[in-house]
Amino acid sequence: MSFRSVLSAARRTVLCSLYRRAVPLVNRGPIVSFTFDDFPRTACSAGAAVLEHFGARGTYYTAFGLMNTSSELGELFHSEDLDALLEKGHELASHTFSHVSCRSISLAGFRSDVEKGKKATGSVAGSNSGNFAYPFGDITLQAKRTLGPCLTSSRSAIPGFNGPEIDLNLLRANHLYGDTDQSRHIENLILQNLTQKSWLIFYTHDVRPSPSEYGCTPALLEFAVSFAARSGSRILTVQKALAEVGLEPHQ
Ligand SMILES: [Zn+2]
Repeated sequence: MSFRSVLSAARRTVLCSLYRRAVPLVNRGPIVSFTFDDFPRTACSAGAAVLEHFGARGTYYTAFGLMNTSSELGELFHSEDLDALLEKGHELASHTFSHVSCRSISLAGFRSDVEKGKKATGSVAGSNSGNFAYPFGDITLQAKRTLGPCLTSSRSAIPGFNGPEIDLNLLRANHLYGDTDQSRHIENLILQNLTQKSWLIFYTHDVRPSPSEYGCTPALLEFAVSFAARSGSRILTVQKALAEVGLEPHQ
C-alpha cells in the first residue's frame, strides 16, 4: 500500500469517526437507495424510467447552478425535468448551488453556497427534504462539524453501508458506474446489505448507452434495481428511508 493510500484511508477513518450525528437504523433494513448527482438529463429520462418500471423512486441531488448547462456528463437538467421528477414522486435534494468543493473555498463561502442550494431546491420542490450530497465527494472535518447539524443528512462518496447506526453527517454511498460487467460487484453489495439488514446507497450521474466515467448504462441500472427488488430489499428515496427512522426534514 502506498503512503498516499495509507494517508487517504486514515483520512476517511477520521472523517467517519468524528462529529457524528448517529441514529439507529433499528430493524428498518434492508433498504437500497438510488441517487443521481448534479444531474444530467439522462438521469431523469432513462434513470427515472428504470426506477419507475420497478415501482421505485430516486433521489436527485441537484446543483441549480448547473441548470441548462452541459459537461462531460452530457446535457444537464432543464427546469421541466424537475417538474417531471416531482410529479412522479422522486426526491429533489441539494448538492450546493454552484457545485463547488468544500476543499476549494473558505468554510463561510461553502456554507453560503450550501444554503443557496438548499433554498433553490426548497423553492422548486415546495418543501425541503434537507438532504444534501457533497460535490466531488469532498468533505472536510470543518464542513462536517459546521454544516452537518444544519442539514437533515449529508451524503458522502465514501463506500460502505449505513447501519446499525447511521451517521446523518456522513451517509456512506457506493458508486454505480460502468456497464453490466460490474453486475457481480453490485450483486455482492446488495447481498451483503441484505444479510446485514442495513441501508445501501448508490450514486451515479449520466445514464446512457455510452456513459461518462461517472455514469452507468441503462442496463447496469436496470440490473441493480431489479436485483435489489428481487432480493426483498425495499427501494426508498433518502427522504423516505430517513422517515422510516423517525426523521423529519430539517427545514
Ligand atoms: Zn456532483
